[in-house]
Amino acid sequence: MCEICRKVLTRFTLSLLLNKFCDYNIIEIDEGNNWGESWLRLFLPKRYVRSIFELKPDWFKQEGIKGIVIDLDNTLIPWDVEEVPDEVKAWLSSLTEQGLKVAIISNNSRARVSHFAKPINIPYIHRAKKPFNFGFKRAAKMMGTSPGEMAVIGDQLVTDVFGGNYFGAYTILVRPLVDSDAPATKINRLIESYIKRHLYRTGKWSRSVIDES
Ligand SMILES: [Mg+2]
Repeated sequence: MCEICRKVLTRFTLSLLLNKFCDYNIIEIDEGNNWGESWLRLFLPKRYVRSIFELKPDWFKQEGIKGIVIDLDNTLIPWDVEEVPDEVKAWLSSLTEQGLKVAIISNNSRARVSHFAKPINIPYIHRAKKPFNFGFKRAAKMMGTSPGEMAVIGDQLVTDVFGGNYFGAYTILVRPLVDSDAPATKINRLIESYIKRHLYRTGKWSRSVIDES
């Protein structure tokens, strides 16, 4: 089976499984339907930011957040970059110095994630299989926090936001650092663009966020 077919099949199976294990019905969203019963609401982040640097330690504390799990590629660093910028190190330090627990959670390989996380001494979970719960549960255990005390930060609706919402965390969507993506992410972006258009058409998402993200 070719690589593209395998990925499409995987995503299709994943969507079926998620639907099976979610207690939500797939319904068309319009004014006559109950938005709260639609599983599509799981794709809505609680907050949208253009950059992680908009997120300050005090804000997390005000929201009752004690643990922060952060995606790596296109959230902290561009997907094709290996060096950690000094401002990212400083931002992460500002969180931990305020007593917040921080972990990096990525679907990428151990080599990729550890190369970034180990030198700056941040716990990490590689091959997290987002949007499934496995990685989020491990992160919660690692940080000693409940889902309600956690924030999930990432640049993708399908993995970070959907997975974080389903887990019960406070989800924050970040504008991707670069316009390009790793090959494995391109299918996610296609699904994401459809979901965003649908949410926009049904009045659940503002035009500005669609254009920016
Ligand atoms: Mg990412």
